Amino acid sequence: MAIHFTSHGAAGTVTGSKHVLEVHRADGTSTRILLDCGMFQGEALASAKGRDPNRHFGFDPGSIDVLVLSHAHIDHSGLLPRVVAEGYSGPIWSTPATRDLCAIMLEDSARIQEYDFEFDMKRARKRGRPLDREGPLYTSRDVPPAMELFRTVGYAQPMEIAPGVTLTFTDAGHILGSAAVHLTIDDGTQVTRFSFTGDVGRYVDRLLPEPVRFPQADVIVCESTYGDRDHAPVAEAEEELLRHVTEVCVERQGRLIIPAFSIGKTQEILYTLNALSNAGRLPRIPVFVDSPLAISATEVVRDHSALFREEVREELFRDPDLFSFPGVEFIRKPEHSKHLNNVKRPCIIISASGMMEAGRVRHHLRHSLPDPNNAVLAVGFCAPGTLGHELLSGAREVSIFGEPVPVNAEILRMEFYSAHADRHELVRYLSCQDPHKVRKLMLVHGVESSLLGLKDLFMDAGFKEVVIPRRGEHFVIA
Ligand SMILES: [Zn+2]
Repeated sequence: MAIHFTSHGAAGTVTGSKHVLEVHRADGTSTRILLDCGMFQGEALASAKGRDPNRHFGFDPGSIDVLVLSHAHIDHSGLLPRVVAEGYSGPIWSTPATRDLCAIMLEDSARIQEYDFEFDMKRARKRGRPLDREGPLYTSRDVPPAMELFRTVGYAQPMEIAPGVTLTFTDAGHILGSAAVHLTIDDGTQVTRFSFTGDVGRYVDRLLPEPVRFPQADVIVCESTYGDRDHAPVAEAEEELLRHVTEVCVERQGRLIIPAFSIGKTQEILYTLNALSNAGRLPRIPVFVDSPLAISATEVVRDHSALFREEVREELFRDPDLFSFPGVEFIRKPEHSKHLNNVKRPCIIISASGMMEAGRVRHHLRHSLPDPNNAVLAVGFCAPGTLGHELLSGAREVSIFGEPVPVNAEILRMEFYSAHADRHELVRYLSCQDPHKVRKLMLVHGVESSLLGLKDLFMDAGFKEVVIPRRGEHFVIA
C-alpha cells in the first residue's frame, strides 16, 4: 500500500551511508530494508555536537528485516558489527567481492578502534585523569557474528530478498565488488522500481569496468560526492610515475615514499609499476608494500580478477599476477617494517594511510622527510587538517608522534584516477533513464555545494522532482 524512505546517514554529508525503506503491503504485513550501514567519519562526526551518530542509529536495529550493502568502503559498511551487536539478525546481501573485502576491512576497523581506545586509556592513566570517552564502537569479537549473516549474489542475478521484493545488483565501477542496488517492490497493489546508486565510479579506470546501465526506475537515490566539479584529465600514469622513480631513486639515490589507501590506490600503483616492469622500463629498485591491510586487499582483488575490465582480463593470459613483479616485497610483520628504516639503498615504499594520518607510513615519513634526496609522492585526496594536507601545503616542519620533523624531502603530487564519478559522469550514468518516468530523484552522499550543483544539472537533464533529503526526513515514495 505504501513505501516510505528515510535517510539516517550520508544525508547532506558524505559519510555514514544508511537509508531505511519500509514496505507496507495491502495484506497488512510490512518489511523494513536497510540500505548500507556506514560509519560517520571526519567532519560529519565532529559537527554532530554531543550525540555520537555512530552510537545512535536513529532506528531500532532489531526492527530491520533485511540489509543490502552497496560496497565495502567503511563509510558504507563500517557499522555492520555494531548493528548486529545491537540486535540485527537478518541477512546482509552483497556481492561476493564486497563480502571478502568487508571481512578484512571490518577486522582492521575493529583493531584500530581497540588500539586507539587502549592508547587513550594509557595516556589518561599517565596523566592521572579519568578517561573522558566511551569504549570502541565494536571490537574484533563483534566481527565474526556480522560476517556470518552475509549472503552473496553476483551482478545481474535477480534474488527475492523478502516477500514481493526482488534485488538486482549492477556493477557501479567504484571499487572492486561495488554495486548499484535495484529493488522491484510489489506491495500487493502496485510495482515500484527503486534504485540506489551506492557510490558511482568513473568511465575511465585502470582496472575496473565502467558503471553499467540499469533498467528504468520510478525512484532513484543517487550519490553526489563530486556534484560540483569535473575531474582533470589524467596524464599517462606510467610515464609520470617512471619519471618520479628515475629522478628520486636513480638520479638522487633517494627513497620514494608513496602513502596510499590500502584498497584501490595501492593496487592501481602496483599495477602501473608491474606494467613498467613487464615492459622492461622499471629500474631495478626494491619496492616494499608495507601495510597488512593493503596486502590482504591485494589478495582479494587478485581472487576476483573476473571483475576487471576486459583489456585487463586479457593481460592475465600473458601475466597471471598483475600486482607483483621482480623486486617487490610484501611486508606484514611490524619488525620487518621497522627494518626498512635501516635500508640505506634507494627504494620505493608504498604504505598506508593515504592521508598520512595513521598507520606505518608515519614511521617512514619521520625517517625520510629530513633528507633532501628523498621524496613523498601523494597520490590521493588529503583532507584539510591531515598530515598529507600539511605537506602538500608546503610546511617546512611537521609534527609526527609529538616530535618536530624538518621537511627537506621533495613533496610530489600525482593525480591517479579518482574512484568517484564527477558531475558530468553522474549525469551520464543516469542518462540510461527516461527522466520523465522517474517520479523522484533523491540526492545523498555529498556536501551542500555538491548536492545543489548536481540538483541543477539533473533538473536541466529533465528530471522533474529532485530532492535533497535531510537526516531523519521521512518520504512517502509510493
Ligand atoms: Zn565508496
